[in-house]
Amino acid sequence: MQPSDRKALIFGISGQDGAYLADLLLRKGVEVHGTSRDKESTSFSNLRVLGILDKVTLHSSVLDDFRSVVTTLKNVQPRYIYNLAAQSSVGLSFDQPVETIDSIMHGTINVLEAMRFLALDARFYNAASSECFGNTEHKPADEATEFRPRSPYAVGKAASFWAVANYREAYGLFACSGILFNHESPFRATRYVTQKIVHGATDIAEGRLSVLELGALDLSRDWGWAPEYVDAMQRMLDHPDPTDFVIATGETHSLKDFVAGCFSCYNLDWRNHVVTSDAFRRPTDILYSSGNPRKARDLLGWSATITMPRLVELLVEAEQVRRRTERGL
Ligand code: NDP
Repeated sequence: MQPSDRKALIFGISGQDGAYLADLLLRKGVEVHGTSRDKESTSFSNLRVLGILDKVTLHSSVLDDFRSVVTTLKNVQPRYIYNLAAQSSVGLSFDQPVETIDSIMHGTINVLEAMRFLALDARFYNAASSECFGNTEHKPADEATEFRPRSPYAVGKAASFWAVANYREAYGLFACSGILFNHESPFRATRYVTQKIVHGATDIAEGRLSVLELGALDLSRDWGWAPEYVDAMQRMLDHPDPTDFVIATGETHSLKDFVAGCFSCYNLDWRNHVVTSDAFRRPTDILYSSGNPRKARDLLGWSATITMPRLVELLVEAEQVRRRTERGL
């Protein structure tokens, strides 16, 4: 099957990365199609906020249903396929391990199998995750670092990473995984700790909340800005050879620094407003996560320009704008 060179299909277009990627591709003149499990009941609020809802073609498609994936690929015939759809919360994956691993693993294999089944001449991007590495305190993780997953989510992402590598080697598919470190934006759901902190600090600054309850603060992460990370995805599929890339800022900061940065945007001392509780601790967590994005810089010409503490300022500013808009100010 010979797809159009200017057509992309994003599985999971309603999520954070799906919306930013759709926006980027549209600006590059690409015809964008995107899926949601049920497009009739999904709000696509991120696409609405970006003003692109009427510029993309939406499809209902369920990744762990092979028939659904084949039908979607056959109808759209994309040149570029991005697999971003999955249960994406590490915390939730401890409560829903089978759903999480199934959505990640079966979804990825179904797309790869459907590409083979249809003999689709397309390029495939798979969303892997830095969670696959586990703790990386000794050395920033790169593409050669071994995986030590510490959650059902990470187990699923590691399996899907190896499925992509296997299909690339076994069948010559143009398929690659982006091993992305945490990336944030106003489109992150409030269940994620970064948005919980931004919302909590803003509520406290407005006098609507007195205390913010969080889990462990001694964790460290490499946090980047989501719109920059989708650019890396697109560059991977434009690269002549299919290969995997670590995408990170190269800077690691503690969650305590993130919290302090948020509160300082409001001239508040976080120590007067935050309490920690063991109730939010996970059965296993990653204490220290750091990435080495050198391969992406050298081969894709990609590097992050937004790092902490600017990232925190952007998130707080976006939350302030959102609240003002909601209040009609
Ligand atoms: P989101 O959670 O914002 O979006 C994922 C989309 O997947 C949702 O909009 C939803 O679409 C769909 N989805 C949710 N649950 C399921 C499920 N059980 N089965 C199938 N589809 C589901 O994720 P992001 O945009 O933040 O991330 C995109 C991808 O990148 C994900 O696979 C994530 O795991 C991965 N990733 C993200 C990182 C980050 O820091 N953001 C870091 C590393 C990897 P709908 O409801 O419309 O069907």
